[in-house]
Amino acid sequence: QRKHKVTVIGSGNWGTTVAKLVAENTREHPDLFEEEVQMWVYEEEVVIPSSSPHFDPEIGEKPQKLTSIINTHHENVKYLPKIKLPTNIVANPSLVDAVKDSNILIFNLPHEFIGNICKQIKGKILPYARGISCIKGVTVTDDKIELICEFIGEQLEIYCGALSGANIASEIANEMWCETTIAYNTPPCDKRAVNGTNGTANGEPVEEHLDSRGQIIRTKLTPLPHVYPPLDHAEISALFSRPYFTVSMVSDVVGVSLGGALKNIVAIACGFVEGHGWNMTAKTAVMRRGMLEIIQFAREFYPQTIQEKTFWEESAGWGDMIVSCTSARNWRYSKMAVERGVPIEEIERTELNGQKLQGISTSREVSSFLRARGAEDRYPLFKMVSGIIDGKVKVEDIPSLFRK
Ligand code: NAD
Ligand code: 13P
Repeated sequence: QRKHKVTVIGSGNWGTTVAKLVAENTREHPDLFEEEVQMWVYEEEVVIPSSSPHFDPEIGEKPQKLTSIINTHHENVKYLPKIKLPTNIVANPSLVDAVKDSNILIFNLPHEFIGNICKQIKGKILPYARGISCIKGVTVTDDKIELICEFIGEQLEIYCGALSGANIASEIANEMWCETTIAYNTPPCDKRAVNGTNGTANGEPVEEHLDSRGQIIRTKLTPLPHVYPPLDHAEISALFSRPYFTVSMVSDVVGVSLGGALKNIVAIACGFVEGHGWNMTAKTAVMRRGMLEIIQFAREFYPQTIQEKTFWEESAGWGDMIVSCTSARNWRYSKMAVERGVPIEEIERTELNGQKLQGISTSREVSSFLRARGAEDRYPLFKMVSGIIDGKVKVEDIPSLFRK
């Protein structure tokens, strides 16, 4: 029997953390997974300062390739410093090489880069590969919006689920306990394949299933060959669960994806509010309003498939909202922008050392999508956040949203 082989595409703060926990699990479950985990790294040159334990006087402060630093010192000194990575993570600067042999692809990079990633690997992955997207964002083109996991699925002709939750990478990398939600709907052909058939109707590699808008779509979905162990909720959970990372498996890709993407807009609003000098009570009002707009959005644009209980019961719902509005990057740096009186993008450029604030582009993308549909006024908080980001509205105007 062959074992599942895993690649993590992306190596930022969260990408590297997820590679770490997955690599710990591939070691612990040699019956299911190949031990080595490939991690694709967007290559860049990094200087190791003389204060670092990894400083080599022979190299001095000469820039070195990030992949070579990770593979030598087992630390991502730029995006996850001071965290020892398992030695079975192999940092690979070649995207095509990193994905070519893996049947589990974990997508974990800022959402604005996913289109280009899919273009580069389309047709170059195993036809029966399966994806999990850890990306928080949406894809918007004109008046069309897509969940990132469905965008990946469509582009690569594979099935892709979604992982999202109240997850601060630096805490999880330090093995501080938290929980997450994974939405994964095992394709029926994979279930049939493990039963020993070739998994397809009439031998054709075509599968009918419902997309997130409840439409029946026929995709070319090649079943997992039956020489592999099954790949269902139990195996996905085994790949991601750690004693410090509790996984809840669900089927609602819409709730999990929209919760993770849209809370970033609300987190930015909370940073603005706190930067202005208001405190927790004001932020609570913004969170409450933000969650109402998220649920309204899901009802309006995904009426056939949304399972509202995800927002109330799962880490990917209220859990993520609370942590994002009180301790994550989108909140922290939008607060700093208001305190310093500078645009949030300037803060992203100068203070984040290459990390990204997903809420800035998500706010603009969602607003342009709503505007194109004449729906922007029905989402006053989302509208106001994009107005403040673009300097058209003032933070002081936020309370006006709440006056009847
Ligand atoms: P990050 O913001 O820490 O790092 C940015 C990454 O983008 C780096 O790896 C950089 O090399 C890469 N990059 C820069 N230019 C690129 C390009 N042109 N093409 C491809 N990659 C490029 O990233 P992250 O925190 O790992 O975020 C990934 C996703 O995970 C985001 O959607 C984020 O919302 C989500 N997320 C983050 C956290 C967290 O605590 N960091 C937690 C949960 C979810
Ligand atoms: P930030 O990208 O704002 O740090 O959010 C991390 C997150 O998604 C918390 O659940």
